[in-house]
Amino acid sequence: MGNKDLELLISLQDIDLMIEEAEEVEKLGFSITGCSELKIAREELAEKINKPLLYRYERLRGKLKRAIVPVKNDICLGCFLRQPTSVCAQGREGLDLFTCENCGRMLYWLD
Ligand SMILES: [Zn+2]
Repeated sequence: MGNKDLELLISLQDIDLMIEEAEEVEKLGFSITGCSELKIAREELAEKINKPLLYRYERLRGKLKRAIVPVKNDICLGCFLRQPTSVCAQGREGLDLFTCENCGRMLYWLD
């Protein structure tokens, strides 16, 4: 997998989190303009992501607020577990998508 999928996935999660927030606010009785536009943008983005990856993301999002999290200083920012050095070396190259063995979240490297 290339960096492109990773970027798309991160954008998708950003939109999902925005939609979630908007829906929370709507529950309080406020109407949010742009929420339906967000949903349309979400669908368009989702179509560009390869299917197995998208399913994996959706499954994770079913149980976790964030399915994809950054790794900083070799630490998964989802569960704060240090990742193995070999994984970090490959992860930084950004050529493959790794999963945290502890929390199952998909990882991307910030540094
Ligand atoms: Zn983790």
